[in-house]
Amino acid sequence: MAETVSNPYLAGQVAVITGAGRGIGQAIAVKLAELGAHTVLCGRSLPALEETSAAIQNSGSATSGKNSDKSLIKSSTNSSVIECDVTDLDSVAALARHVESSFHRLDILVNNAGIGEMGGPLHQLAPENWERVMNTNLRGVYYCIRSLAPLMIKARSGHIINISSLAGKNALPNGAAYAASKWGLNGLTYSVAEELRPHNIRVAVICPGSTHTEFSQHPGMNTEKMLQATDIAHVVAMLVTQAPQSFASEILLRPTQKP
Ligand code: NDP
Repeated sequence: MAETVSNPYLAGQVAVITGAGRGIGQAIAVKLAELGAHTVLCGRSLPALEETSAAIQNSGSATSGKNSDKSLIKSSTNSSVIECDVTDLDSVAALARHVESSFHRLDILVNNAGIGEMGGPLHQLAPENWERVMNTNLRGVYYCIRSLAPLMIKARSGHIINISSLAGKNALPNGAAYAASKWGLNGLTYSVAEELRPHNIRVAVICPGSTHTEFSQHPGMNTEKMLQATDIAHVVAMLVTQAPQSFASEILLRPTQKP
């Protein structure tokens, strides 16, 4: 950790993380900040985003005792919070304007915001719940790429990382809409990856199995054996620290032992 702070790999870079107020998004934001990126924390709840911002500051101050260069540590733990609903194009466009006018660059976009919809067969699902899931998990990613990819294209550089799910690879009875949104997200990712590859932008997808967050109940599962949010953050860190010629495009992430 001290090594990371004294020589931050992502120093000077800017990362946008959607759904950064808790769970996997929060862990990703803390990790990218530890690596030296300025993290732009997005979500619908400002207090939650401020908690993540505080966690980033705390993670910086926890390491500050190990490193006397306080200004470096401060810049390595920098973050901004911005209220943003990924289902609302105006809201996402405002986020993009904020990033462009404040930083003039975007190096990393993590499309993490997502909601679940489990608990019954598709034929009993209310249409408004179908809309909610698709609008968040799929349309939201489209809006973020539409609004933010042009900044990366201009710079001929960037990483876009979409947080999908193993439910986007497998059948999920009683969660068909969620599974469909994540299968769709995988297809979107593979296609956009080819669109943006000529622009030197790497678009990757991470498909984690059940992860111990507030996202959904996992009755009967041993939470210690489950994936933790920090495990997904670790994979994001691996992706954004690859050599320039290397492009890991899809990661399926499972717990070592079945929980
Ligand atoms: P959480 O429910 O803990 O967090 C979801 C985050 O998304 C919250 O910060 C929430 O913030 C944000 N969010 C939801 N809707 C919107 C929106 N419309 N606009 C902006 N932000 C929004 O879930 P996890 O951290 O567990 O999940 C994160 C991602 O990982 C999701 O895409 C999920 O599908 C995926 N995933 C999760 C797994 C798990 O078992 N936990 C397994 C595999 C994948 P707010 O409500 O304040 O806006």
